[in-house]
Amino acid sequence: MPAAFLTTPRPPRRPCAPLLAPALALLMSMLVPGSGAAADAAPAGDAPAASPVAIAIHGGAGTISREAMTPEREARIRAALTEAARAGHAVLREGGTALDAVTAAITLLEDAPEFNAGRGAVLTSEGRVEMDASLMTGHDLEAGAVAGVRGIRHPILAARAVLEDSPHVMLVGRGAEDWARRAGLEFKDDDWFITPFRSEQLERLRSAEAGAARQDEAPWYSTVGAVALDAHGNLAAGTSTGGMSNKRFGRVGDSPIIGAGTYADNASCAVSATGHGEFFIRHVVAYRICAGMTLAGQGLAESADAVVNGLLTEVGGDGGVIALDARGRIAMPFNTPGMYRARIGVDGRLDVAIYGDE
Ligand code: ASP
Repeated sequence: MPAAFLTTPRPPRRPCAPLLAPALALLMSMLVPGSGAAADAAPAGDAPAASPVAIAIHGGAGTISREAMTPEREARIRAALTEAARAGHAVLREGGTALDAVTAAITLLEDAPEFNAGRGAVLTSEGRVEMDASLMTGHDLEAGAVAGVRGIRHPILAARAVLEDSPHVMLVGRGAEDWARRAGLEFKDDDWFITPFRSEQLERLRSAEAGAARQDEAPWYSTVGAVALDAHGNLAAGTSTGGMSNKRFGRVGDSPIIGAGTYADNASCAVSATGHGEFFIRHVVAYRICAGMTLAGQGLAESADAVVNGLLTEVGGDGGVIALDARGRIAMPFNTPGMYRARIGVDGRLDVAIYGDE
């Protein structure tokens, strides 16, 4: 990216203590029960790294039931989650950054038509695809986001171009698309993004709205996201989405809002959210989980559970999060029947799950 694009100077990045962080993380993994590497638990290809590394991903939360799922669709979803988690983990095992791992996992999920991001994104009430994405790094609190973008094959790479090459945190619409074009990102025609599944979903919602059918379209938020801890002890989080099906054009949800759908801070945790975005924005969900740790002294699981199963459930905000702390501990609470999710923890073990009882 030519320097001429930078219209205002960037603030200096905070150093990420490259030497101290891995040593501390390793020490923590020895002190914290359950967070140490268990070599014999690692399936082939997911061997633990020397310093603890971990990744968690999601493909959205919602009314996901076995009855409404076909074996073929379930197999495709599990395969896509496995591939994305392994791709991110491979980056981490090779000493890559948490940002690279999150980006690697999300670009794969954006290409998988089963999920509501990139190809397969949901449609606006006008039948178009408008996408949002964001990324944040925990060692320097740098962030990049795009909202309401069209045609960008990988919105998460556009968010990354904003994070790395612009003096801004968020670009929307044409400005974001222009930035992505200048960064050399790939564009596709609208038709490339639209799957028959999403067109039918929009039709059902439109008829329900017009009173021609029962409003029986179950809320289903298949946004994608990833959180990662790298061998340098750094966290990152990212989220990418088409938003909510039948949304008003121009509507922006929580996914590109730093603090609502995405947050990362080495001092607490990295979070990516999925669910009814308006609730996640009002209650600043991702940041609130991190703040529970720094301000209220809660553990990761306690804080994430209090926000998702406590606060959000009380106010009627459906959804879930994936959260990861600097010790490699993972929490994935959701208050919907299911959430597409996968994790490779510090023990190197891969877990893929869909339903609430898994
Ligand atoms: N949170 C997203 C939004 O409201 C939807 C999702 O999670 O699928 O835009």
